[in-house]
Amino acid sequence: MSGCWNCGAPPAFTGRDTGEEAHFCAGCGSLQPPPSNYFDFFGLERKLGVDAGALDLRFYALSRRLHPDLFFRRGERERQYSLDSTAILNDAYRTLKDPVKRAEYLLKENGFDVGEQKSANVPPELLEEVFELNMALEESAKEEVAAALSKFRSMLGESDAEMARQFERYDRSFDRGVLVEIRGLLNRRKYIRNLIETANGTR
Ligand SMILES: [Zn+2]
Repeated sequence: MSGCWNCGAPPAFTGRDTGEEAHFCAGCGSLQPPPSNYFDFFGLERKLGVDAGALDLRFYALSRRLHPDLFFRRGERERQYSLDSTAILNDAYRTLKDPVKRAEYLLKENGFDVGEQKSANVPPELLEEVFELNMALEESAKEEVAAALSKFRSMLGESDAEMARQFERYDRSFDRGVLVEIRGLLNRRKYIRNLIETANGTR
């Protein structure tokens, strides 16, 4: 990024800035164009482990500092930056707050395709469960459906625990191979969630 659009002072965003001050020029105080990367926007490292409390604090601080009402009397450019920043702020917060959305975002940023799960990609270890669930649903076997539902819920819990472990592994190594594993876990999770919805009769 080049210097401040207004006074030419060196760029505020270095990728390591933590406070909301990074959004303003240190020389003249003008609001700068927002960084498009969500982690950079909040001054967070590009990691999968995010401290939810710290994220909340930064979100509230930035909401106050970037609010369009504060730029009402400023020039066209800062008014626009304030609108742009507020839009990114809300999207970034929603995305980084949720571990699944956060992982999908980081995968996308690293060039992975994380589109909708195709039915052709049923995780092989779930084929039997899918078959049994469909049988139980066809026969309206309520007890078996309930048993399947509780099994899927515990699978979802295990899947989330495994994902948390892989997040830590990635944050220690920044190893792309770990991201491949995480993508597999996300697909599996999505699939299990679909099974839960099916068993619940909501699909
Ligand atoms: Zn400036």
